[in-house]
Amino acid sequence: MENMKLIDSYGRKINYMRLAVTDRCNLRCRYCMPAQGVPKVTPQEILSYEELYLVARTAVSMGIEKIRVTGGEPLVRKGILEFLNRLSSISGLKELVLTTNGLLLEEMAEDLARAGVQRLNISLDSFDQQTFKEITRCGDLKKVSAGIAAAEQAGIPVKINMVVMRGVNDAELLDFAALTLKKPHAVRFIEYMPTIKEENWQSLVVPGSEILERIAQKFTYKNLDHAELAGPARNYHIEGAKGSIGVITPLSGHFCGDCNRIRLTAAGTVRSCLFSEREYDLKPFLRAGDAAAVKVALRRIVGDKPGQHQITSTEADHQAFAMSSIGG
Ligand code: SAM
Ligand code: SF4
Repeated sequence: MENMKLIDSYGRKINYMRLAVTDRCNLRCRYCMPAQGVPKVTPQEILSYEELYLVARTAVSMGIEKIRVTGGEPLVRKGILEFLNRLSSISGLKELVLTTNGLLLEEMAEDLARAGVQRLNISLDSFDQQTFKEITRCGDLKKVSAGIAAAEQAGIPVKINMVVMRGVNDAELLDFAALTLKKPHAVRFIEYMPTIKEENWQSLVVPGSEILERIAQKFTYKNLDHAELAGPARNYHIEGAKGSIGVITPLSGHFCGDCNRIRLTAAGTVRSCLFSEREYDLKPFLRAGDAAAVKVALRRIVGDKPGQHQITSTEADHQAFAMSSIGG
């Protein structure tokens, strides 16, 4: 059985797949896409739920244990609840989680719980309506807050993802950390990544070490252990808190050595590294319903996974891309 597993050429076990079920979104976050938007995947190119299910089932049979449904905004795709329901019943899948901007959660949280979603990662970068609007270019903070409350009510554990940007929202770091005193959420501070390569992006990056130093000026915290299927965050517990904090440092302290993931884009290509332009098109095999060919392709993709990316806090040599088409 072990030789069926997905192991890359650096010996890393690949057990986590991110599925971008759409590239459409009801927000336009400044770090995710340029102001003018990005070309959309055509309806013909978007994978059907049947095709997404085929990849998921095949990947799980090869050792994928955790699936994150993402996008674009996954909750805007029609039929998402039925799809999640099907995913959650794949035998061998240990974790089904979803990343959302939270705008539609108030209406959908109960149904997501019933569909088998075990955790929600909710992107929230500011508690201030004006700043939130500047970052998302159109969002309504009240809706996200109501969505978080609905997730709690539905009993789904919540992680809050804050992309920290100097001079934009970093003044709120301590407020986000303080949220864990009152709520059992995991709040994760993510270093801004230059995916769209906006001008002077370097000035926006607040390194994880600085984030932690600033939190330490107000709070006492201690390290938490790292669970096997956990993501790349280094996690901490603030004294007396109900929740936890975490720092994700893709630039200042990349975690490529422990990388266990591959990503399926909404158009049916697979990226084995976020910052690699190498993409492999699974669509022809999926359109043909050929699970055996999907298996061969997944093994090849994992075999070709780069050892690490080359992006640092000051230099980025990749082609600009919108995270909404890849799923973060
Ligand atoms: N729409 C959903 C959302 O926003 O949660 C899911 C898709 S979004 C692309 C997934 C994650 O990528 C979000 O948590 C978002 O904050 C993160 N992300 C997008 N662009 C980023 C960037 N340039 N740097 C760091 N994180 C980014
Ligand atoms: Fe949409 Fe998520 Fe990108 Fe924001 S980060 S524009 S919510 S896909």
